Amino acid sequence: MKKHNFNAGPSILPQSTIENTAKAILDFNGSGLSLMEISHRAKDFQPVVDEAVALFKELLNIPEGYSVLFLGGGASLEFCMVPFNFLEKKAAYLNTGVWAKKAMKEAKAFGEVVEVASSADANYTFVPKDYTIPADADYFHITTNNTIYGTEIRTDIDSPVPLIADASSDIFSRPMDVSKYVMIYGGAQKNLAPAGLTFVIIKNDALGKVSRYIPTMLNYQTHIDNGSMFNTPPVVPIYAALQTLRWIKEQGGVKEMERRAIEKADLLYNEIDRNKLFVGTANKEDRSLMNICFVMKDEYKDLEADFMKFATERGMVGIKGHRSVGGFRASCYNALPKESVEALVACMQEFEKQH
Ligand code: PLP
Repeated sequence: MKKHNFNAGPSILPQSTIENTAKAILDFNGSGLSLMEISHRAKDFQPVVDEAVALFKELLNIPEGYSVLFLGGGASLEFCMVPFNFLEKKAAYLNTGVWAKKAMKEAKAFGEVVEVASSADANYTFVPKDYTIPADADYFHITTNNTIYGTEIRTDIDSPVPLIADASSDIFSRPMDVSKYVMIYGGAQKNLAPAGLTFVIIKNDALGKVSRYIPTMLNYQTHIDNGSMFNTPPVVPIYAALQTLRWIKEQGGVKEMERRAIEKADLLYNEIDRNKLFVGTANKEDRSLMNICFVMKDEYKDLEADFMKFATERGMVGIKGHRSVGGFRASCYNALPKESVEALVACMQEFEKQH
């Protein structure tokens, strides 16, 4: 039976990413060695990093003066590296979910943290829009896509202070105006690569403004100066990321990724809104294109387990909602084909007919 992979992350990747990486794991560039066995300083590997950086810049139209870094530690390590490198006195955070809250918690160890707004009281079902960013903050931190709650900030906001974004779960799903940010970061394990790789897009001249000592490995300048090769980078995930970046380019770039994301999300949200059994959990105007969260209406709540079984028997994988939202979450990342969303919609319609 065909499987439809709606996992939230690690998640579906383009088939070409998997096949090309598998080939290189067996034999890297005809060298007779596995990609897992070569030195990151091998002369064949540097072009992999260089092309991946170049494609990042090309696909996201990154202006001059920015670096692209490939690090380890996940987005979670960035929660601590960001304040280490940028927070001198005060930082502002928008609290739109668990990940934003975790980022805020780390920052509190470095200085004053202002929570400009929060939707915690509404279980993060919306993105607050009415807030003031303190003009004396060292930076303003946002989470562009809230993977757990299915809300998203799909515009590049104007901030009076340097803007930093965790874009772990919606990078490469739309064109971004990178010039509005001093830093965009994320774990690669959704729209880019297998787990183990963190991407960082950083404005070079935004650094060097804090007075504290920054440990070498936690200092972005170290990684800029060494082209992500200060220590051994995650070689296999970087190779896989390059395959995905090539795929995005071949498919027509981020504009095309956005067109497909809108098409898939419309299909599923329309069914959620039409179907008598289901209801979406996120505020309509903040709905994420990447993570689509829905539950059974109150009067049908006891059918939730039945629907899960019904859908699983028809090949749906990973649609169980996060425990803090419940119900269902269908993650529709770039590599998820429209046919998978159509299959889920058909499943919802068939189940509705039975009830
Ligand atoms: N930020 C967001 C928006 C996420 O979705 C996740 C993981 O799902 C993280 C941060 C944490 O990423 P990592 O597991 O790479 O540390």
